[in-house]
Amino acid sequence: MIYADNAATTKMSEAAIRELVAVNENTYGNPSTLYSIGQSAKEVLEKAREKVAAVIGAEPNEIYFTSGGSEADNQAIISAAENGRKSGKMHIVSTAFEHHAVLNTLEKLRKEGFDITLLDVHENGIVIPSEVEDAIRDDTCLVTVMFANNEIGTIQPIGEIGEICRREGVPFHTDAVQAMGHIAIDVNDLKVDMLSASAHKFHGPKGVGFLYARKGTRLTNLIEGGEQERGKRAGTENVPGIAAMAVALEEAAGNMREYADRLTPIRDRIIDGLSRIPHSALNGDAGRRLPGNINYCFEGIEGESLLLLLDDRGIQASSGSACTSGSLDPSHVLLAICRVHDVAHGSLRLSIGEDITEEDADYIVSSVSEVVEYLRSFSPVWRDLMSGKSQFIL
Ligand SMILES: *Cc1c(COP(=O)(O)O)cnc(C)c1O
Repeated sequence: MIYADNAATTKMSEAAIRELVAVNENTYGNPSTLYSIGQSAKEVLEKAREKVAAVIGAEPNEIYFTSGGSEADNQAIISAAENGRKSGKMHIVSTAFEHHAVLNTLEKLRKEGFDITLLDVHENGIVIPSEVEDAIRDDTCLVTVMFANNEIGTIQPIGEIGEICRREGVPFHTDAVQAMGHIAIDVNDLKVDMLSASAHKFHGPKGVGFLYARKGTRLTNLIEGGEQERGKRAGTENVPGIAAMAVALEEAAGNMREYADRLTPIRDRIIDGLSRIPHSALNGDAGRRLPGNINYCFEGIEGESLLLLLDDRGIQASSGSACTSGSLDPSHVLLAICRVHDVAHGSLRLSIGEDITEEDADYIVSSVSEVVEYLRSFSPVWRDLMSGKSQFIL
């Protein structure tokens, strides 16, 4: 089996699994209690906070543990919106290809009276910093731009956008869920004020993540209750999950360069192989993308059939994001980079993992090529294209 859907979730690392089990077994106390096993759990929790903070160049007290990326995105955006509302600033700048955790939160705020500007990301899937600058107004309370896109893997100029926001005095949040553990991140170099991350995207457990919020950022509680996370996120902490996340993040950060050096040529080998399929196109910039991301459109076929036939051949991939597959709507990300509906339906996302080999890459290329040819052989859309009844787009 070749698991090529690491953008949907990753397998936990051995070290993270060991940590998860060990903390569950030995340090099961409630960190809010005063006896020794509770205090040991508290120590595990604070040690994890230090580790996570160190990886991104933050202070431990700027890290808030959450249930994952979605919660961190919600809390960051709602906090900035609430702060803005108090001072009559009700405008937010974001992009059209954000994750739904961001887009749907912005949509909710729009219904509450906020004005939301969603920037175009152009055909290469990269936001242009000067367009962010132009979109900022006197009443802008937040700029939120994702670090790396979850479907097409394109990496955004976060440092440049951070620079602009700092100069304009506007808080800047980035959804770094896809980037964390895969590319180097320093919140001070990048001038990021808030950042979201999720453990299961970097070989940690599911259901745990964190929000980085720069000192002085006023956060709004999404969950009321106890005083955990300095009163900003109630509920007994997921100590085993948090500890395992910290282990996974340290590991990922430590191996980052080596893996990127190994994955990038394999990614490009797959892209090169798939580029030989006629009437197909790579989605997103070829160079400025995550080391493990490949996203292709093939004209004349349905992405869903492609996935099922690849699964029969032992290749697990995706047609866009797990959140949109299952619905018949084409991916909002592909539409945002100007792919028309018909073409966006025939998309394939391969997000390869660190254990992939060159043989796996070649097997992926030959399998995709064969399956695309097979599906086209009985596709009415393809027949119309071939007969000239309709026009090729790619
Ligand atoms: C997976 C993902 C999320 C959601 O994270 P969860 O931990 O699954 O809630 C948010 N943003 C991006 C870019 C993602 O890839």
